[in-house]
Amino acid sequence: MPFSLIPQGVYPSVTALEPEALAAKGIRLVLADLDNTLAPYKVPRPAAEVVAWKQALDRAGIRLFLLSNSRKPNRARLFAEALDIPYQGHSGKPRRGGYYKAMERMGVKPEETVMVGDQIFTDVLGANRAGVVPLLVEPIRLAGNPGRYIRYAVETPFRALGRRRPFL
Ligand SMILES: [Mg+2]
Repeated sequence: MPFSLIPQGVYPSVTALEPEALAAKGIRLVLADLDNTLAPYKVPRPAAEVVAWKQALDRAGIRLFLLSNSRKPNRARLFAEALDIPYQGHSGKPRRGGYYKAMERMGVKPEETVMVGDQIFTDVLGANRAGVVPLLVEPIRLAGNPGRYIRYAVETPFRALGRRRPFL
């Protein structure tokens, strides 16, 4: 797939992605980023809304898979165990390898897969390279690190382009 930094839609949070709407598009696997997508940085357990969203995905026949770049030992594992989903930590986004491995483990094709994340230069770029539908969410919380505000500003044009081509 071509190099692209443009997502297919920008959503307020993961829970805005309706499982039935994803299923109607033929989606069977949701790869999800962890930090600032499923939970704020350093928060070890999923919020009740995220647990409910995962259960709704289950009912729609869609698997959720945690694809995290976190290098912190146990960060991805503990969160994934709390949500009862498979995971890959230290996954090297935007490189394609982590996406391919996750799809192979779950037995699905790129066209049956979406990636949901909060960052253009990792989550979205990697998804486009791997042929996976890139869905961008607003970061849960920018506070805590000045670099996040700078990156968010740099990402703004790509976010604007993505709003014009929503997948859902
Ligand atoms: Mg993130």
